[in-house]
Amino acid sequence: MSYAYPVSKPWLGDREQQLVGEAIASGWISSQGPEIKRFEAAFAEYNGVAHGVACSSGTAALTVALAALGVGPGDEVIVPEFTMIASAWAVNYVGATPVFVDCGDDLNLDVTKIEARITSRTAVIMPVHVYGRRCDMDAIMELAYDYNLRVVEDSAESHGVRPVGDVACFSLFANKIITAGEGGICITNEPRLAEQMAHLRAMAFTKDHSFLHKKIAYNFRMTNLQAALASAQLERIDEILSRRRAIEKYYDAALAGIPGVTLMPPRDVLWMYDVRVERRAQLQAHLAENGVETRLFFKPMSRQPMYFDAGWPELKAAAFSEDGLYLPTYPELTEADQEIIVGHIRSFYRP
Ligand SMILES: *Cc1c(COP(=O)(O)O)cnc(C)c1O
Repeated sequence: MSYAYPVSKPWLGDREQQLVGEAIASGWISSQGPEIKRFEAAFAEYNGVAHGVACSSGTAALTVALAALGVGPGDEVIVPEFTMIASAWAVNYVGATPVFVDCGDDLNLDVTKIEARITSRTAVIMPVHVYGRRCDMDAIMELAYDYNLRVVEDSAESHGVRPVGDVACFSLFANKIITAGEGGICITNEPRLAEQMAHLRAMAFTKDHSFLHKKIAYNFRMTNLQAALASAQLERIDEILSRRRAIEKYYDAALAGIPGVTLMPPRDVLWMYDVRVERRAQLQAHLAENGVETRLFFKPMSRQPMYFDAGWPELKAAAFSEDGLYLPTYPELTEADQEIIVGHIRSFYRP
C-alpha cells in the first residue's frame, strides 16, 4: 500500500544524482574508490571527531565497534530496553550478552538505573539517542569512568547530535536523517580503534595481501556508490536538520490541546515525530484510511522472544510501546501536508 503521506521519505536531489552518476562513470562501484575516504573524513569532521569508518549498515557499524573494542563471549553490554533491535543484536553478533536498562520519560536509557546492572563482566555502555533526543551523556561518561567501561553510542537516529563516547555509530538507512540507501559509519578520536574497525570491517586482510587472516572478521564494507550518495546528503545536512526542526515546531503547536494526544519532550534533532495517543489502533487505522502512514513505538528488548530469559520486568518502556506512534517526518513534508495530517487526528478525537 502506498500512502499520500508516508512515514518517511528520503530527500534526494540533483547533487545526489550528480555524485552517484560520477561514481558510476568513474568505474569505482565497490568498496574502493575516492568517495568512501572523502565521506569518512567529512562525516568525522562534521562531528568534530578525528576518524570515520564507513560500513554497510548501522548494525554493521555497531558490531564492528564492539568487536574492535575486544568485546566478546563472557562480556556484558548495557543496552536500553527502548531501542531498535539492532542495538542488542550487535552485542549478540560479537558473542557478548546484552543487559537491558529501562527508559525514562524521554524514552532514553534511565541513567539512574544503570549502576545496579553493572557487574564484573560489564565492558560497554551503549546509550541510544532515541528519536533524536540526546541521552544524559555527562552521567553516562562519569559511570564509564568510575567503572572503567567503554561507551559506544548508537547514534543511528541522531545525526547532528555531537557524540562524546569512545565510538559513535550512525545508520545511513533510507529512513534516517541522512542516507546512503543502506549504510552506516563509526566515528572515534582514537587512531588505533579506527584502524582496528577498518581492519575488521574488511575481512582482516593483512597489509601484504598474503591471504593469511589472523582472525575471523566481517565483510561490512560500504561501496563507493553509497558513499557518493551519503556525501551529497552530508553537504545538505544543515538544511535537512532545519526543515526537520520546522516540522517538529509545527506538530508541537498544532497537536497541543487535542484531547487524546500527549506530546513528548523536545528533541535535540528530529528523527521521527513521536507522540502518545489514546485508542492507538483505531487512530492508526483512521489515519491509514486517509493516506497517512504511522509507525508504532519500539517494543522493549526483554519482550522480544530471543530475550525472554532476561525476565519480564515491569517497564516504563512497555507502557510507551503500548500507546506511542510516530507521524510522517521527512524534509519535503510541507506545512500544508502537516495541517492535513493534524486535521485527521483532530477529527478522530472530536468527530
Ligand atoms: C536504524 C537503527 C539501527 C540500525 O541501522 P541499520 O542501518 O538499519 O542497520 C540501529 N539502532 C537504531 C537505534 C536504529 O534506529
